[in-house]
Amino acid sequence: MKVPMIMTAGPTEVNEQVRKAMSERATNPDLDMNFFEFYKESIEKLKMIYKTKNETFILNGEGMLGLDSACCSLIEKGDRVLCIENGIFGKGFGPMCETYGAEVIYFSSDYKNTIDVEKLEEFLKLDSNFKIATMVHCETPSGIVNPVEKIAELLNRNKIISVVDAVSSLGGEELETDKWGLDIVLGGSQKAISSPTGLTYITISQRAFDKMEARKEPIPSFYCNLLLFRSWYQDREFPYTQPVYNLVANDIAFDICLASDYLNKHKKIAIAVRSALKRGGLELYAESGHANTVTAVMVPESIAYEDLFNTMVKDYNIMISGSLGELYNKVFRIGHMGENASEDKIYMCLNALNNTFEKLGFKPKEKLHLSFVEEVNK
Ligand SMILES: *Cc1c(COP(=O)(O)O)cnc(C)c1O
Repeated sequence: MKVPMIMTAGPTEVNEQVRKAMSERATNPDLDMNFFEFYKESIEKLKMIYKTKNETFILNGEGMLGLDSACCSLIEKGDRVLCIENGIFGKGFGPMCETYGAEVIYFSSDYKNTIDVEKLEEFLKLDSNFKIATMVHCETPSGIVNPVEKIAELLNRNKIISVVDAVSSLGGEELETDKWGLDIVLGGSQKAISSPTGLTYITISQRAFDKMEARKEPIPSFYCNLLLFRSWYQDREFPYTQPVYNLVANDIAFDICLASDYLNKHKKIAIAVRSALKRGGLELYAESGHANTVTAVMVPESIAYEDLFNTMVKDYNIMISGSLGELYNKVFRIGHMGENASEDKIYMCLNALNNTFEKLGFKPKEKLHLSFVEEVNK
């Protein structure tokens, strides 16, 4: 299979060291007591990225498993959930919560901007009787980072448990789980951590565990039951066999992340990408809250998104992302998170993008890759 350079909004490129770790011999994770020590150390690294002292786990499934587990473990029939949303992932929390019997109330904000905190404050003055509020830190399809710190302040004042999807921001955007008082924060291996797809990260506050313990009805799942994970160290037993190869590789990805100045690296590259695109005459989708992990750009009117995507793959072997839902065909995205937050890769990607645009009859005002080099060295 011919593999393109993936400059998508996730999954991201996986570092060679991480891929090599997958092919090393691994132990039996059920019986070898050293495995539990390894897992513990790996969790300590993850806690550093989350900036938390709360209990933290790595679950064995793709990103959505974290969202599903949080909803499943917390929600009981009739619980009122506030779904705070300004995009596709944010809104998607609603139906997921309804699966577990929640009464979902939406606080919807403009999709081109960050969540309106002042309006949310007004909203909560009228109705704050919620057990849980869900939100997305980085709305990947639109490239917007929401003011989670300020939202959490409002929620904490009203004693509402926060569930934050940070799948495409963890490791790429400023995120302070404890300082901001967040309850559950979800991450995924395949985004800014750049480890193979298939693992979910989750950190859980004592308050959130208390809510799970205080349920009247048992948690209606085995695989999504977060309480079953709690005693793994004490009992030296997980609810199911751990995917040891993935975890070993993932641990190397944590090391690579922590050894770099990852937040500044993401910020510097993102600013230069946005400036280069604007200098080229392109329009960014978002009007505020531009993410440091992914940039969503309007497809020039004279071009069909499919031609853009296909030419990039066929002629340059580089894959970019489109967008989802209503933004499909209107927006394309460049992922610059994790391993892809690399000046060399972005240069290659923007060079190919520039040439693709020219082939398709849209000539950027300034060459995208050359502007990028200027901007990133400012
Ligand atoms: C990637 C992502 C997820 C996980 O979803 P998949 O698309 O199935 O990988 C969840 N939330 C956000 C915000 C994401 O970017």
